[in-house]
Amino acid sequence: YKAKSGRHGHHVYQSEDDSHGDTRLRTLQDLRLGLTDDQLVVYYQPKIGLQNGEVTGVEALVRWQHPTRGLLLPEDFLDLVEESGLMHTLTRIVLTKALDQAVLWHAGGHALTIAVNISASSLVNVEFPEEVVRMVNARRLPASALMLEVTEDFLMSDRDRARDVLTRLREAGIQIAVDDFGTGYSSLSYLRDLPIDELKLDRSFVLPMTHDARAASLVASTIELAHSLGLRMVAEGVESSVAYDELARYGCDHAQGFFMSRPIPALELDEWLATRHDLEPGAVN
Ligand code: C2E
Ligand code: MG
Ligand code: MG
Ligand code: MG
Repeated sequence: YKAKSGRHGHHVYQSEDDSHGDTRLRTLQDLRLGLTDDQLVVYYQPKIGLQNGEVTGVEALVRWQHPTRGLLLPEDFLDLVEESGLMHTLTRIVLTKALDQAVLWHAGGHALTIAVNISASSLVNVEFPEEVVRMVNARRLPASALMLEVTEDFLMSDRDRARDVLTRLREAGIQIAVDDFGTGYSSLSYLRDLPIDELKLDRSFVLPMTHDARAASLVASTIELAHSLGLRMVAEGVESSVAYDELARYGCDHAQGFFMSRPIPALELDEWLATRHDLEPGAVN
């Protein structure tokens, strides 16, 4: 947009900031419509037990099927959701879809645990634990079929609140995982005192493991430490059979990653479940 000289000599123009503002406004309108118009989609990525190769659960990962921009990833819109105060709406939508899907899987003989990512802003809502428990009970699912993935920054921000929220969820039977473990500032000695079931080792530790001996020994010793505190360990970002086998040797409990499957729609996961062979460690390639 061309700048013009105003009456008093200063420029009257539509600044880049304004046009950026317009785009943002449109995007926010899109987002509000997307949330009310059922444009969010949940993809699922399987989690595999490393000792027996069985699928034990799935992680629910949100996508936005945008009417003109195509399938958007969390990195394209989660910041906007958070900034515009709509995170709790998104959380409720994802939980509803994931739990409805869990009912179908359980009825079909797949007793999968569904893991849902919960932002710190949703977790600090005092009504949240009761709301989640109600949603699980209304579907007659065992509470342990739901796992909530929380981040280290939530655990570290308000420790009393975090402990209170997690305790209420855990007492109801819901499982708790710490996501992206290792990237934040929590320590294992702090986590030891919280009601947590498992740690998900961030992929930035897992990816270099196969070509960097020091990265590998860091992973191995973190797994040992977690076990000594009674926590299960899940490795994120397992992209190769080499990493898969190595993690199994280290005694890691579960693995998640592109090597087994990318996040896919529920119908595709059904097909994947029906046709896959259990990945016994060492049985691949
Ligand atoms: P996350 O919870 O750590 O989820 C794992 C991310 O790693 C997913 O990205 C997944 O596609 C990706 N991933 C899985 N396996 C591999 C692998 O082998 N290699 C590599 N390079 N990447 C792998 P995605 O789906 O784009 O999600 C990104 C993040 O967005 C999630 O990280 C989570 O923090 C957030 N997120 C996703 N869905 C939700 C949601 O429903 N609510 C909230 N609050 N956050 C969500
Ligand atoms: Mg996660
Ligand atoms: Mg993660
Ligand atoms: Mg992550």
